[in-house]
Amino acid sequence: MIVVPEAACPSLLSLDDAFAPVEAVFAAMARGDATNFPVVREALGGAEEALYGFKGGYDRAGATLGLKAGGYWPHNLAHRQLTNHQSTVFLFDPETGRPTAMVGGNYLTAARTAAASSVSIKHLARPDARVLGMVGAGHQAVFQLRAALRQRPFERVVGWNRDPDRLSRLAEVAGEAGLPFEAVSLDRLGAEADVIVTIASSFAPILAAAQVRPGTHLACMGTDTKGKQEVDSTLLARATVFTDEIAQSVTIGEAQHAVAAGLIRAADITPLGAVINGTHPGRASPDQITLFDGTGVGLQDLAVAARVVALAKAAGLAAEVAF
Ligand code: NAD
Repeated sequence: MIVVPEAACPSLLSLDDAFAPVEAVFAAMARGDATNFPVVREALGGAEEALYGFKGGYDRAGATLGLKAGGYWPHNLAHRQLTNHQSTVFLFDPETGRPTAMVGGNYLTAARTAAASSVSIKHLARPDARVLGMVGAGHQAVFQLRAALRQRPFERVVGWNRDPDRLSRLAEVAGEAGLPFEAVSLDRLGAEADVIVTIASSFAPILAAAQVRPGTHLACMGTDTKGKQEVDSTLLARATVFTDEIAQSVTIGEAQHAVAAGLIRAADITPLGAVINGTHPGRASPDQITLFDGTGVGLQDLAVAARVVALAKAAGLAAEVAF
């Protein structure tokens, strides 16, 4: 069994390396070649108030079987200087059931989430998109910004965060890419951005439908739990909605609210993989609003974990454990 420790993952797998495995697994899901297993998520109770669970799946096309185990320990940082989100990916040989790899999952989660919105921008944003808008400036936002910038020749970045001081981290990333960054109101962000990435942890809409102009592509990445919400649900009725997995989109994703309100139906939502496979045309006009509801599926984790194992082997850095 190969062991790739958490600390080794960032230097082995770049955000660019994460792109192709995530794009491929979305395509496999849409073809019916890859299946996510039902997610388990349990509150552990007790003083740590942790949430723990499993996201697993099987990608027949990529011969990848496994699961990500982990969750959220809200007091880790304050009590132990440890990241609150903790996860580990386990891969198995689909032919034998033998474990093949154990891989740190924390950095991989950020990389595969950033890759998902980046894949959506590649396939759905207008080719002439030049202004990128960021809503949210937490841990994930930096990865999201870096990956989004790869997809279009963006000329500037505008950002909004509930706590504006945290936007300095995004300004640094934009600066590294040689782009100006400006902290703006949500009105200005919607009026100026061609692509908007939302990556906040909110339980009420942040961006109003009226703030988004025709032709915008939105990647809504922060809503991954029942009750969370980043954009007004009427925006989903105005937009053409895409997702990683429809079952998650309507239950724990951004679409949950629009579906519950009867504004859209599950049948109105298209898997992004169908656009990648060419069975759905994707954006139909320059004025259309496209919205990717990125809920985060286990197969994304397995895809990037398999890639990091391959990269570790190729670099001669794979620690092998007899098991
Ligand atoms: P974080 O705690 O580091 O940052 C949270 C961000 O949300 C900050 O910018 C904060 O200012 C903002 N925020 C918090 N409450 C808000 C509110 N009420 N209104 C507006 N903004 C608010 O979190 P993170 O690790 O960057 O994760 C951000 C979100 O992305 C979380 O909801 C997380 O669960 C989600 N996430 C999704 C995926 C996926 O695959 N879709 C993967 C990882 C994380």
